[in-house]
Amino acid sequence: MAKIFCIANQKGGVGKTTTTVNLAAGLAQIGQRVLLVDLDPQGNATMGAGINKALLKASTYEVLLGLANSKIARVTSEVGKFDVLPANRELAGAEVELVDMEKRERRLKDALAEVDGEYDFILIDCPPALSMLTLNGLCAAHGVIIPMQCEYYALEGLSDLVNTIKKVHANLNPDLKIIGLLRVMFDPRMTLSQQVSAQLEQHFGDKVFKTIIPRNVRLAEAPSYGVPGVCFDPTSKGAQAYVAFGAEMVERIESM
Ligand code: ATP
Ligand code: MG
Repeated sequence: MAKIFCIANQKGGVGKTTTTVNLAAGLAQIGQRVLLVDLDPQGNATMGAGINKALLKASTYEVLLGLANSKIARVTSEVGKFDVLPANRELAGAEVELVDMEKRERRLKDALAEVDGEYDFILIDCPPALSMLTLNGLCAAHGVIIPMQCEYYALEGLSDLVNTIKKVHANLNPDLKIIGLLRVMFDPRMTLSQQVSAQLEQHFGDKVFKTIIPRNVRLAEAPSYGVPGVCFDPTSKGAQAYVAFGAEMVERIESM
């Protein structure tokens, strides 16, 4: 059975998709079988894995609404060497259409049960909102990985996210826990980054991953080529950090 993780933060542009795609590719490189689930109508993870979101036979949208099986909808990222349950703008409609459905927050969990025996890891890229889509991700997962930029406002939204996770844990998914906070787009030359980073360690202790992802232009360039950063330029500092993060994840899971 796969270990299922949500990459979530309701703040926009904090590095969720970059983390999901590169962790998927990093884990695949060390021999793990990975399924990436794109749960964001922006479809950025789909594109970042090299899949054309305009040419999908089926997507996360159909899977959530029960119109397609996840085995039918998944595609393979040839370059990343992992599978993808892809998404495009259609998924925005699911938010409304799910409202009247039975067990609406468990649709993804049920859909993933069809394939989870085939993978070691399932990574879910969440949209930047605490919405019904994100709730489906949190109900399906064993844990949450929270990417954060080390800036002043980063800490503000964190308590809302932590409270949501606590509520889901209490009412809907007792398996759910915070696996860790990942510091991303880190700039060691900024005093504020250092300060916020130290605050996070003080406050969250072991929940802060040891690996720090630096700000690195190669990671930002890679999506425009439809290639995960860790494959695009394996020698770059960003790629190496995500590969190290993959190894840290495997280690953390083994001790869980
Ligand atoms: P959204 O909330 O819109 O889904 P997100 O949280 O998924 O956004 P990303 O799309 O991963 O965030 O990243 C936002 C932007 O920052 C992108 O342009 C991405 O290429 C860039 N970026 C992410 N991580 C890094 C990094 N470590 N170094 C440099 N650029 C980065
Ligand atoms: Mg994203």
